[in-house]
Amino acid sequence: MKPVLMVTGGNRGIGAATARLAAMAGYAVCLSYRSHADEAAAVVAEIRMGGGEAVAVAADVALECEVSRLFEQADALGPLRALVNNAGMLEPQARVAEMDAARLTRVFAVNVIGSFLCAREAVRRMSTRQGGAGGAIVNVSSAASRLGSPGEYVDYAASKGAIDTFTIGLAKEVAAEGIRVNAVRPGVIHTAIHASGGEPGRVDRVKAGVPMQRGGQPEEVAQAILWLLSDAASYCTGSLLDISGGR
Ligand code: NAP
Repeated sequence: MKPVLMVTGGNRGIGAATARLAAMAGYAVCLSYRSHADEAAAVVAEIRMGGGEAVAVAADVALECEVSRLFEQADALGPLRALVNNAGMLEPQARVAEMDAARLTRVFAVNVIGSFLCAREAVRRMSTRQGGAGGAIVNVSSAASRLGSPGEYVDYAASKGAIDTFTIGLAKEVAAEGIRVNAVRPGVIHTAIHASGGEPGRVDRVKAGVPMQRGGQPEEVAQAILWLLSDAASYCTGSLLDISGGR
């Protein structure tokens, strides 16, 4: 039986690239999506065409009941061995002075609470203390946690700062239970997230400030995620790996 990997937000961008690579690496993939069922179905079809195993499940990671249901559906694939907490969002660019509580609640509910809830479900299944066989978690943070994203989305950057701390704390908490927990911190990557912030061409605008002078591709982040999940990273936990072209 193949090891099962859960990737949240697996219908597009970094999540879809991770799902594809994970299937090629031999995982049975459960990918979640919030709203784009058509994209999720296309990723699943592509994986199956390549001989891999994948299912897609709709779930808003900010809602506890939907997260519980998501992991219950993944149980049908087999024992969970890996989680990629990838689902994330940002709101239109704004200064802190313009942010209301509803916006802040949305950003932290999805990016932070969603990651906690999914990790909770994964730990319950993977911890050797709870009868599991161990596993690995990769949280998708952001270089924004170091840079702060002034004038654009300080709220988003702060939510990723919380993910960095969450990664360090959870890694220590479950290190003796067979679970490694790490994070990747992508820089500017060519995905649709920038359009949801109101600037589809953001990568091209900021790339001159990246030492490598370009944005990254989702696959370049996915490769790092797959390495952190793999046995090649067996002594690596609580690490925050920058995938940001030197920025
Ligand atoms: P993306 O293309 O916009 O993908 C975001 C994914 O998250 C989508 O699959 C989306 O599902 C899902 N999602 C959003 N809100 C959700 C919710 N409430 N519940 C469940 N799923 C939800 O963006 P991306 O760039 O690939 O982002 C992936 C991760 O990388 C995020 O955590 C992001 O913060 C991080 N990141 C991205 C960059 C970058 O430059 N692109 C840089 C640093 C970090 P639907 O499409 O179905 O709504």
